[in-house]
Amino acid sequence: MRFNFRNGMVIAVVCIIIVLGLLSVQEAREDEQLKVVATYSIIHDLVENVAGDRVELNSMVPIGEEPEEYEPLPEDMQAVAEADLVFANGLGMEHWLVSIIQNVAPNQNMVEVTAGVEPFYLYDAGLQGEPDPHAWLDPILVRDYYIPNIRDALIELDPEGEEYYQQRAVDYQEELGELDEWIKEQVEQIPVENKILVTSEGAYRYFVEAYGFEEGFIWQINSHEEGTPQQIANLIDSIRDQEVKAVFVETSVSHRPMERVAEEVGVPIGGVLYSDSTDEPGSENDNYLSMMEHNVSSIVEALGGRE
Ligand SMILES: [Zn+2]
Repeated sequence: MRFNFRNGMVIAVVCIIIVLGLLSVQEAREDEQLKVVATYSIIHDLVENVAGDRVELNSMVPIGEEPEEYEPLPEDMQAVAEADLVFANGLGMEHWLVSIIQNVAPNQNMVEVTAGVEPFYLYDAGLQGEPDPHAWLDPILVRDYYIPNIRDALIELDPEGEEYYQQRAVDYQEELGELDEWIKEQVEQIPVENKILVTSEGAYRYFVEAYGFEEGFIWQINSHEEGTPQQIANLIDSIRDQEVKAVFVETSVSHRPMERVAEEVGVPIGGVLYSDSTDEPGSENDNYLSMMEHNVSSIVEALGGRE
């Protein structure tokens, strides 16, 4: 073939395309991040605080939604199968995850971030002996178990990021310690006889034990019967016997059963608390620290801590 200008141009263009192609393949490889899945919003936020931007992190249960009655979608199974690591709360919280792992990804690397926590056990009718999964509502357990478990699993997955994860974990643990100190100061403003936390779901056991409250609830856990007439009648009886200043509803469950209790007994609804999920991304309480501050401020205000 005789060289001419036109052929030269074609060859040059083809070469450029090949070089660009190779560059973009290389770039894609460099960009390819480790894929990490967290089961729901609270775990997602805690993992994000340690993992930063070194991994691609997704939440299975959409952020802001209730995780205990979640019904996984086909894309969740794919996400679990493709993930390098799955973080779950454990303690029976993600009962729906067990069959996904068994069926879709039996070799999946799953870390239960509550490993090492000494759990409380449920005690309501039919639930005795099951662990109470809501350990994140005590920030000291988050500091001492959740974060170290998350940090260690990330380091094992991505040893090059060790220093990065260590530093982020230390920084966040410091914030959790400060949160705990702040909560202690706040709840001191509540007269002891008012320290009764009545909520729809009995999700706050770890919180009430840590900060010296009594608890009351309509049902003990969202994954079982919620708000039956008998459960409502039982709570009404028990709060009639005590001087309860206010009752609370939660963001992730129906407010109606507690509104019936409040009307019947003549106590106000003291506020809307977060329990099983943070708020939607971009809203004020879209992270664990803010949701805890919101809860505590609402509780202190309603139970008579402030002038
Ligand atoms: Zn719950």
